[in-house]
Amino acid sequence: MGPEYYVNIMSFVDKSQLEPGCAVLLHNKGLNVVGVLADDVDPMVSVMKVDKAPLESYADVGGLEDQIQEIKEAVELPLTHPELYEDIGIKPPKGVILYGEPGTGKTLLAKAVANSTSASFLRVVGSELIQKYLGDGPKLVRELFRVAEDMSPSIVFIDEIDAVGSKRYDSNSGGEKEIQRTMIELLTQMDGFEARGDVKVIMATNKIESLDPALLRPGRIDRKIEFPLPDVKTKRHIFGIHTGRMNLADDVKLEEFVMAKDDLSGADIKALCTEAGLLALRERRMQVTHADFTKAKEKVLYKKREGVPEGLYM
Ligand code: ATP
Repeated sequence: MGPEYYVNIMSFVDKSQLEPGCAVLLHNKGLNVVGVLADDVDPMVSVMKVDKAPLESYADVGGLEDQIQEIKEAVELPLTHPELYEDIGIKPPKGVILYGEPGTGKTLLAKAVANSTSASFLRVVGSELIQKYLGDGPKLVRELFRVAEDMSPSIVFIDEIDAVGSKRYDSNSGGEKEIQRTMIELLTQMDGFEARGDVKVIMATNKIESLDPALLRPGRIDRKIEFPLPDVKTKRHIFGIHTGRMNLADDVKLEEFVMAKDDLSGADIKALCTEAGLLALRERRMQVTHADFTKAKEKVLYKKREGVPEGLYM
């Protein structure tokens, strides 16, 4: 398991040693200070950045064997055995981009790689870089890579990269310019990467076709890994993972849900299992029945169809 950190400016661990209001890096278990963020970083920027310790491992991933293999070659091996690349005389990839429908396991796999390499995991969401920090996108990108270097070996995971890295046709508005500046900073950081062999970047998107080709040029993030919706075999495996610890009644026939022709993603399957468990819990039953799963599936599919936000459909 890798080092586990998160960034939190509100925690004054030892006031005598820290400037009031300064941003600190805390170990998320021991809560001891492991670093102090640079002064010129807007505290708002730091507080929203979460560097979580991934507990997920490859065993939590259903299917995706090819994707695991590819990410191992592109991210894991360069982190764990950089000498292999040196021996053979090639430069390891700087990272990869994972793309596919929502809920197909992109974040899960990125966390599993960090887990397996004992690397720190720094996660940012592209849309938040732009929307939450009003003008601070480029600064945050710089800071992100600085922290990644400090904590290396590390994996920088940028979710919803399309929010920053889309092709743009109208770049006159202030918002568009801000997005462009953030994107340029990201490219600059990635180009300045040679020296940092032990920082890898994993980006994720649902809209690969909208990305600016500059981002995907050889030498930047030129490895693309597709995450499809699960096939029947993978669905069976994912149901197995998410029901593994549930107390199922004898009448439960998961195969019915595995074989149904709904476009369930891995995240949908997880939601379905959780929902079925909650239904049993609500009636104070110790076992989850087939009827619970059937009702849960209806809810999950309804939510998916209607785009009902989490928490509003119960
Ligand atoms: P988004 O594009 O919306 O960010 P994502 O592809 O990153 O989605 P995840 O966040 O990895 O999807 O998936 C959400 C949850 O769904 C995971 O935490 C996991 O519990 C479950 N899940 C998704 N795919 C799989 C899988 N292949 N095996 C097991 N669980 C899965």
